[in-house]
Amino acid sequence: MTQTDDRHTTVDLSAYPISEATAHRLRTMTIGHVIDGVVVGPGSSGTLPVYDPSTGRAVASMAVAGPSEVEAAIASARQAFEDGRWQFLDPLDKERRLRELSRLIAVHAEELAELDVIDGGILRVYSGFIAKFAVDGVDYYSGWPTKLQGSIPATPGDIVVRATREPVGVVGLIMPWNGPSAVVVAVAAALAAGNSVILKPAEQTPITAVRLAELALEAGIPPGVFNVLQGTGDVAGAGLVAHPDVDTIAFTGSVDTGRRIQAAAAARVKRVSLELGGKSAHIVFEDADLDAAADATAAAVWGNSGQVCTAGSRVLVQRSVHDRLLERIIDRSKGLTIGNAFDPTAQIGPLISADQLDRVAGYVTIGRDEGAELVLGGSRIGDAGYFHEPTIFAGVDNSMRIAREEIFGPVMSVIPFDSEDDAVRVANDSEFGLAAGVWTQDVSRAHRVPRRLKAGTVWVNTYQAVYPSVPYGGVKQSGHGRNLGAESLDDFLQTKSVWTRIGAEP
Ligand code: ADP
Repeated sequence: MTQTDDRHTTVDLSAYPISEATAHRLRTMTIGHVIDGVVVGPGSSGTLPVYDPSTGRAVASMAVAGPSEVEAAIASARQAFEDGRWQFLDPLDKERRLRELSRLIAVHAEELAELDVIDGGILRVYSGFIAKFAVDGVDYYSGWPTKLQGSIPATPGDIVVRATREPVGVVGLIMPWNGPSAVVVAVAAALAAGNSVILKPAEQTPITAVRLAELALEAGIPPGVFNVLQGTGDVAGAGLVAHPDVDTIAFTGSVDTGRRIQAAAAARVKRVSLELGGKSAHIVFEDADLDAAADATAAAVWGNSGQVCTAGSRVLVQRSVHDRLLERIIDRSKGLTIGNAFDPTAQIGPLISADQLDRVAGYVTIGRDEGAELVLGGSRIGDAGYFHEPTIFAGVDNSMRIAREEIFGPVMSVIPFDSEDDAVRVANDSEFGLAAGVWTQDVSRAHRVPRRLKAGTVWVNTYQAVYPSVPYGGVKQSGHGRNLGAESLDDFLQTKSVWTRIGAEP
């Protein structure tokens, strides 16, 4: 790989508890686009600083795409698709190369995890989980190229029709900042289906995308097949959505941006799949194991400081156990150590940005003004970095904004309910439908309630479990299309019916 720009980060990395290999990488790498197998540094559109959310300080600078970089990345992906360098490669060969990518991610997992802590502010232990998920997800999709098949529909005897499943073409993947290395799983799904990809990472977390594309090249995935475009949503992201040479967009992010993308894509009748936000109901019935439920309901909102699409931000509790559960949740939440994402004793890390911190603080004010009872937290911590206390509102009514809007921060709304019908009604009374949790020891209820919940995922007596073969996505305004599993491939394939007249039967 050649580097067309040699700008290196100048930050003092000696204070960072990272491996020498990661420090060297960060000192020497260009946080740029990857176009046609080449890392491209800043052009006329310049750079943006990359902030460490734990300190609020800039640690590096990244290239920002202008229209010419957008054009170049799309041209590279289009050319790679049309000449068949990947699309028409022997499926077994595709599998070997994707498997090799998984292996290389595993080899570099520590480096990727450390880099995700630096720009994502993700607790080191959690970023290790993300890197492992990247390995597993790519491994899972590496098995698919030889398993894709079409069908032969029943037709009159003088005709044969082959309904083949073909790649869509050039896929634009527009991704968020809350699990930077995990985005390679979506890349692998699109590649397993035979497409070329342009990955647009979030501007807050540009670093590991470059490394992932480099590892893909090392794994034998040809140049131009996996490109990276760095920059802002309104230029790089919107540029992919608007361009006629990008055939489909897979987006993960906020509802507002998803809505804008779907509207912009409509102008070209372009396919989109959207994995958006949620306001997931975590329902605890009176027959639940309250200790297990308290552990899970707390972890489901404090994990990654609540910056997870499936955060169980509405805790619905049966009134008869309300006080006992709330006491246990507070117990598990009040002593948590909040600190630098690299600190091994930290249990809660920073939010991604100053904007996000303001947003969370704004919702705490809204909750207070709406008359909810603040029973824990409520404040920003320190003035360096973007830290916020775990915050619990009790006595929340489902009509309040803190129960209806996605906060994407460590804020839990606790809502009492009386009956199973009541719980289902409140859980479903939301614009969102990404996920839900149910805690009960009644086996009939454990089957009955999930059937009635309007959500793409329901976890029973567990929460936020993920596995690469299990489809993941939302209903209602949480989006459409599915990440993970065989169903994700549907977003990256299209069906062609080939009719052949073979003459009348003798
Ligand atoms: P947040 O507001 O938390 O940053 P977004 O949903 O806006 O979350 O961002 C997710 C991804 O969408 C990022 O990669 C961002 O750059 C991109 N994005 C933002 N606005 C647009 C847009 N109008 N068109 C396409 N992509 C966008």
